Amino acid sequence: MYGIAMAKGLLVTLKNLTKKPFTVQYPEERLKQHPRFRGEEFVWYEERCTGCASCAKYCPLGIIKIVTTPSETAPAQGDKYKLELFDISIERCMFCGLCVEACPYDALFMGSGFEQGQYSRKGMVIDIDQLRNADKRPSAFFRPQLEDAGYDPQGGRPLDWQEVGRESWQWHEREKAGMKIARPVPSDLLADGPRVDSSFVEDSVPEPKATDGPAPAGDAE
Ligand code: SF4
Ligand code: SF4
Repeated sequence: MYGIAMAKGLLVTLKNLTKKPFTVQYPEERLKQHPRFRGEEFVWYEERCTGCASCAKYCPLGIIKIVTTPSETAPAQGDKYKLELFDISIERCMFCGLCVEACPYDALFMGSGFEQGQYSRKGMVIDIDQLRNADKRPSAFFRPQLEDAGYDPQGGRPLDWQEVGRESWQWHEREKAGMKIARPVPSDLLADGPRVDSSFVEDSVPEPKATDGPAPAGDAE
């Protein structure tokens, strides 16, 4: 029958006319954000960053540019590279958070701000100085240590680099302890004799054998 669908549509309109609107008058009014909200900014802790560039490698858009001081030798264990450049071009960022997930040292976090609009593309690059000076209120996205602590980036205080990592996690300690190899290597798997064959060492001088006699006269120079 004609007109039923139209009546149904009008009914929906009438129903919503009587409902209280749920829109807010931004920017005067603001909705409460979830602690895991991913904004268009990043929180970076230079103290925690080793310059490994895992974040840059994992970014599917290749918009993180990292330059570290060239080193002629490998840094000592526990050492880190000095960062010269750390640019994030947020005009192309899709805020997927993969860079944050890839950071093994809890140095990079999503931020909660979303008001970084600029009039030029150049202005949409977050450089290392901006990252250094940015407000340290990290989003709890992919950082359960912050979520478990009940941290709210909107209402909470800025966090120091010592407060944002997973070092204090008890399970982490247990995991680390579990990785220790407690079993000795069975003796039947150990090779007999010395582990290094000295004939492969270029500088090694073979020991003269006790049974060797004087060199033949034709060999003398
Ligand atoms: S959030 Fe995604 S797109 Fe943006 S910089 Fe990180 S990995 Fe790249
Ligand atoms: S932010 Fe994390 S992943 Fe990126 S260079 Fe620093 S330590 Fe490596």
